[in-house]
Amino acid sequence: MRGRYLAGLITLALANAGLGAASADSGADAPKWSLAIHGGAGVIERGSLSPEQEKAYRAGLDEALRAGAGVLDKGGTSLDAVTAAIHVLEDNPLFNAGRGAVFTAEGRNELDAAIMDGRTLKAGAVAGITRTRHPVDAARAVMDHSPHVMLAGEGADRFSREQGLEQVDPSWFRTEKRWQQLLEWRKNHQARLDPTHRYGTVGAVALDASGNLAAATSTGGMTGKRWGRIGDSPVIGAGTYARNGQCAVSATGSGEYFIRESAARQVCDRVAYLHRPLAAAAQETIDSVGAIGGDGGLIAMGPEGMPAFALNSPGMYRGQVASGSAPQTAIYADEALPAKK
Ligand code: ASP
Repeated sequence: MRGRYLAGLITLALANAGLGAASADSGADAPKWSLAIHGGAGVIERGSLSPEQEKAYRAGLDEALRAGAGVLDKGGTSLDAVTAAIHVLEDNPLFNAGRGAVFTAEGRNELDAAIMDGRTLKAGAVAGITRTRHPVDAARAVMDHSPHVMLAGEGADRFSREQGLEQVDPSWFRTEKRWQQLLEWRKNHQARLDPTHRYGTVGAVALDASGNLAAATSTGGMTGKRWGRIGDSPVIGAGTYARNGQCAVSATGSGEYFIRESAARQVCDRVAYLHRPLAAAAQETIDSVGAIGGDGGLIAMGPEGMPAFALNSPGMYRGQVASGSAPQTAIYADEALPAKK
């Protein structure tokens, strides 16, 4: 299996076969558990971040990896691990999820999130919620405590409240940087999509010690979104998907295109039906998103704990950690994970 992964290492599919390159052919050295995260993809070029900014992003990713790893290392579930990692990123104002979310055209923060359990294929999602501190918790509550998969708008806000999830004043989500991005967007407000191309959606995929996969994604969407626009993140099979034995995926980028390509499910289908190595499946999916005009990236996790990262934009905040190895982070497209020794 791992031989296939290695064969699939190509350009921007920065597969982490190195959880061990040396152990490519044997499952014996497969990690007990594994976690990969992203903090959004976009035009993040070398030189576009100051050293301090870069350090802050890497520290944020590292903190999220450690939170998820803490869960997995104690034998916790992949669902709890992706939730824990995303909590950290939702509270970090650098990322476009929870606090730090981008603004709608009307100057509001409307949050989308989803989670999927690869073991049961149960899933939950919320779209356009406005008061839940941790949107991923609302998605999880939909999965665990409702007969539905996706709730939107006011009803979703009400459900979250009724579930006793932490509610905050909408100003909690506001950051000056995102407000300035909205003002910039308004200047050319006919722009169809976010002209700043600075995303920051967050996502996590994990394999736990019991062999179960999970995926979750959380976002404020895109600057200047209108009319109740919902992106790919909360759409199961587009921005988020997990199925034991195949893969777990969280995507980020221009969501409209990821929806049209059923991107997250497409990665798993390529693995399951075309028998593609995960890294190749990830890259081919991003290529198909790119072919219709979309940009961004995705993270994927295979059933043996092998992560893959694929992107067609200049950068994606991302990271990985697994049993027996320290957390590692990357930002620019040409950075390999794991870092070359
Ligand atoms: N995919 C998200 C959306 O379209 C945005 C992002 O990933 O930055 O809502």
